Amino acid sequence: KVNIVWFRQDLRLSDHKALYYALKDAEQSRAKVLGLFHIHPSLNESFTVRHDYFFRTLEDLINHAAEYDFPIHFITGEVEEAFQHLLDQDFAIRSVFYNKDEVGFGRERDQKVNKWLEAQGIDVESFVDAHIHGAEEVHKKDGGYYKVFTPYYRMWSSLEKPAVFRVDKQKLSELGADYTDQFKRGEKAFRDLLSKCTKEWNHIGERSAVGRLAHFLHHKVHHYEENRDFPSKNATSMISPYLKNGVLSPRTVYHKAMEIKEDNGESKGLETYISEIAWRDFYNMIYYIYPNSKDEEVSDQYQGIDWNQDEEYFEKWKQGQTGYPIVDAAMRQLNTIGWMHNRLRMVVASFLTKDYLMDWRKGERYFEECLIDYDASSNIGGWQWAASTGTDAVPYFRVFNPTRQSERFDPEGTFIRSYLPELKDVPKKYIHEPSKMSDEEQNQYNCKIGEDYPEPSVDHKTMRKRAIEVFEQRKDS
Ligand code: FAD
Repeated sequence: KVNIVWFRQDLRLSDHKALYYALKDAEQSRAKVLGLFHIHPSLNESFTVRHDYFFRTLEDLINHAAEYDFPIHFITGEVEEAFQHLLDQDFAIRSVFYNKDEVGFGRERDQKVNKWLEAQGIDVESFVDAHIHGAEEVHKKDGGYYKVFTPYYRMWSSLEKPAVFRVDKQKLSELGADYTDQFKRGEKAFRDLLSKCTKEWNHIGERSAVGRLAHFLHHKVHHYEENRDFPSKNATSMISPYLKNGVLSPRTVYHKAMEIKEDNGESKGLETYISEIAWRDFYNMIYYIYPNSKDEEVSDQYQGIDWNQDEEYFEKWKQGQTGYPIVDAAMRQLNTIGWMHNRLRMVVASFLTKDYLMDWRKGERYFEECLIDYDASSNIGGWQWAASTGTDAVPYFRVFNPTRQSERFDPEGTFIRSYLPELKDVPKKYIHEPSKMSDEEQNQYNCKIGEDYPEPSVDHKTMRKRAIEVFEQRKDS
């Protein structure tokens, strides 16, 4: 008999609940353990940068697991069809273990597959693993859900935290089951996907993730509070792609941070960092209780806003050609490395939804296409926050001023220059508003406005006023 561990967005071997329990059960029942990854055929049609990153990470996991003689095999087709194929080959499956998706497409798939597996007489063991506290774990005293982060976080903090699930690597070797011959079709599907990966990624996989987290906690976390909003300071942990793909477990992140607290004492930085990890859990819960929030404003008073449909403006935003340097540098960071600093995500989302008055869904979808850390819950949460349509959103009358944000969080223009080479010679005095340069200065600093770099595409003051009016009208209608 075999226990199957169905890997999904949990690409690691340590602190992995499904793997931990599958091994434990196999040891007691003298079963073997088979690692599986399911490849859906639709992946071939929608392969983005996120998939490039994901499959390289998966490749790293496969190689890592092979070091312990623990092969992970691939199945393809519709999920039920793929499992049926296993049954047709006379696999005696004892149980299927997996870490579940609590939200979105994955939640629906899990519900469907569970039914199917159980109908075949196969036992299913699924776990909340991707968050420290799952969507149903943090409640108000009356059993209701929190809609606002601060009281949620108070309750979150008061709950006992789950321990790390230590996977015994020795057992991986002893109990791992190798059926290479039976999985040739799946192996080919995986190799085909890998051949689509064209990017060069540094710091891929679990070992890099552990190293990055340790570096951040030992060298940066105590200064996180004062530095985290400055993109050029590289002061955040940059672990979001690891958390998203499950290369790092959030439990491990929490406990490692707690070790630092024990060793070095408390700091505001450490405290804030932990609260950021809790935001991830919060947005997972919000998406769980508002399953339509990828398509619909959570706050129904703002449904049906008459958004600007001008595609030309959307293109300017996407390409980093708005004429606002902080917005443009941020968008080019996204387009170049598939990641964007948090402060900048807020700035560009505010700019699209307020200065351009464009639908937040368009921005949410563009981030989905471009981010390697794309996480539906956090992304929808972030976009609805910026668009003032979420549960715990910035009020619609508080509109980010892109120039002031730029002056405040990139005062020297270091970040801007790193992504806008056309502004590399522009001095600090003009870096936030290069269109203010005289003709002579434009010549002197090698940047002709309107040619090398665009004029501001909109006037912030005017657009701010218009956005407030539109939101006000919608609210009152
Ligand atoms: P750090 O500052 O080092 O924080 C550590 C971890 O805490 C992050 O990795 C992340 O898991 C979590 N975290 C931090 N801030 C937030 C937050 N505001 N909401 C939820 N979790 C948070 N995050 C994603 O992981 N995927 C997304 O698709 C995503 N889309 C966003 C869209 C918008 C419009 C906004 C405003 C924010 C979005 N975020 C998203 C949240 C945040 O920007 C990123 O998590 C963060 O920038 C990742 O960088 P880091 O790992 O260095 O973060």
